[in-house]
Amino acid sequence: MKPPEIVRLSPGKRVLFLTKDPDLIRKQLAGELDLTMDDLTVDDLLDDINTDAMTPAWVCFSHRPEDIARDAYAGLIVDGERLFGRDALRDGGFEVIVSGVRKGVGSSRETAVQAEKWSGIRIAIAASFAPIHARNNVNQGVLMGDHDMLRRLQAGDGVALEEFCDGWDPISRLVIRQGGLFPFAKALAAGEIELPRPETGERPMTMAEKILAGHLMTIGEGAGQGEAEADGAAHRYVKPGDAVVVRVDGGYSHEFTTAQVHYFLEQEYGDDYAVQDPSKFAVFEDHLIYADDVPKMRGFIGKIDVLRELQRDLQQHTGVRDYSAKDRVSPGICHEVAREQLIEPGDFIQATDSHTCMGGVNNALAWGVGATEYANLLHSGFTQVEVPESIRFELTGELADGVTAKDVMLHILLEYAKPQKTLNRVMEFTGPGLRTLSMDERATLTNMATECSARTAIVEADEETFRWMAEWRPGADIERMRRRAVRPDPEAVYDGGVFRIDLSAMRPMVAHPGDPDHGVPSDPTNGAFVDELGAVDIDIAYGGSCTAGKIDDLEFYHRVVEEAVEAGLRVHEGVRFLIQFGSEAVERYCREKGMIETFERAGVQLIQPGCGACIGCGPGVSESRDQVTVSAINRNYKGRSGPGRLYLASPLTVAASAFTGHITAYRPGMFVRTPAPAAV
Ligand code: SF4
Repeated sequence: MKPPEIVRLSPGKRVLFLTKDPDLIRKQLAGELDLTMDDLTVDDLLDDINTDAMTPAWVCFSHRPEDIARDAYAGLIVDGERLFGRDALRDGGFEVIVSGVRKGVGSSRETAVQAEKWSGIRIAIAASFAPIHARNNVNQGVLMGDHDMLRRLQAGDGVALEEFCDGWDPISRLVIRQGGLFPFAKALAAGEIELPRPETGERPMTMAEKILAGHLMTIGEGAGQGEAEADGAAHRYVKPGDAVVVRVDGGYSHEFTTAQVHYFLEQEYGDDYAVQDPSKFAVFEDHLIYADDVPKMRGFIGKIDVLRELQRDLQQHTGVRDYSAKDRVSPGICHEVAREQLIEPGDFIQATDSHTCMGGVNNALAWGVGATEYANLLHSGFTQVEVPESIRFELTGELADGVTAKDVMLHILLEYAKPQKTLNRVMEFTGPGLRTLSMDERATLTNMATECSARTAIVEADEETFRWMAEWRPGADIERMRRRAVRPDPEAVYDGGVFRIDLSAMRPMVAHPGDPDHGVPSDPTNGAFVDELGAVDIDIAYGGSCTAGKIDDLEFYHRVVEEAVEAGLRVHEGVRFLIQFGSEAVERYCREKGMIETFERAGVQLIQPGCGACIGCGPGVSESRDQVTVSAINRNYKGRSGPGRLYLASPLTVAASAFTGHITAYRPGMFVRTPAPAAV
């Protein structure tokens, strides 16, 4: 519904303050207390409310927003119990919800906003919002304001809608004014609104800017969606902050998200909805393939089956590429298969998962979006974007033996992401050091852009890029790929700065539980991660996920395992070492190279392709608080991979630790036995 020009509180509706004191929340939910901004300060309000607290992963097994709303804030646990009972938010009669700073941090899940909106919330008040969460609010038509605006609203004053649009780009302002993304798209198709035209003149551009400029669309007044036309000739330049409409080359969703996309398209455009061009869009069955192996998830298998069924419905209805599981075996993790088979240099790709950024390894621009945005672009073939700023990393030197791209990313997280240099920016990787890395290792760099809170990452193409493309896609038009590849202009502007990283100075890193930016380097003399915690014994070593299930990662695991097996070792007693392939192709490669036998001899548990690692739905998740995992995945936010403590490390460190029983950096030859001295 379109919001009014002057926004006021509705008679009979209430304001919910999410206070640090849980008793105050309980009393408000019970209808025993109503607060105003005059009763509190911003410091009394909860900060950093995580989207996992708003809608834990199990809540997302429902696809209808009204069902999701019933368990709003189910992840807000106090003294082991849910603070919000079932339907508590909806039954409270609230229309405004208030918190402190950085509302909506964590994963990009749109269900967090849906849970509030479908419980009756139309205004979210906070000192600041996490960028993706804010975008989801805009798309869902939930207004965002600050505490001063709330003070005026509670005093009975009206607040101009224009104030709720402050700070947003011109297209997002139109979306806010229309009441969300779908009403905006319909108004656009009906010719009721006109888009601002980009006016940026000739300028040097970064790789991301070049791709967006090359995908610009112009939609004239009165033009329908299908009539939108590419306008590469008239406006070929963009700059950060420009609000533009761009053609989308392709994308994908998986069984955790597709059901909502299908549902939204049916709701908005009817059962016979059509999509613009299904040829380069796809669905994957990869995220929940092993959910029934996780005890906590077994109660949701019925709901997961419904999600799978709805994904099949969308695929059959639209004709998008089908990467469904066969006999319960997935063809692979969406991001891995997409880079192997789908994404080309110069593409603009959108998909419903936060590690979509991995596609940047193919010299493409790719990032994750919510189900609403994805449904809209699948239907229309285009989307609206505010051109992001970029930060450039020029890699020099060469990694020492035993150091990997994962260690580089844990270093970048510590040195650049933690102080927010990468926040919402495109991370551009270039330089002579980049050319020493394989495509798989480069993919680790782009994959973890999301942990850096970056918009995405992109890698400059070189001969290795096109050699790899030719190898993976026999018969593909490599010359066309060369023509579409982008390079940064020499004078391109990097608002985030240009930084040199000497790869030869990198050391194995491990990140402590809680956040991927809690990294420490290893002691080069003994491979120990010396810090305040001392030696860390482990229960689980996991190698897999979109970050670490590629061919090179399997080569890393194999190198260590082979060395250990030759030294007569097996996986350390009491440790489970699990390795999961990223795709069918990766598994085939390992079989052909004879790697499987080595893994089996060492006692490694091998798992078919799939993910779910960071949503508590896959192999390798812990089952109790006292378990310790060292994992080659990408993120270790509290509770996302089970209740235990999760350390992040490289595939080499994970494999070495599986044999020593405690977190240990791999040192080349560390398991090779010194021959006994010859008898005299
Ligand atoms: S690690 Fe796996 S489950 Fe987590 S966001 Fe990436 S692809 Fe999805």
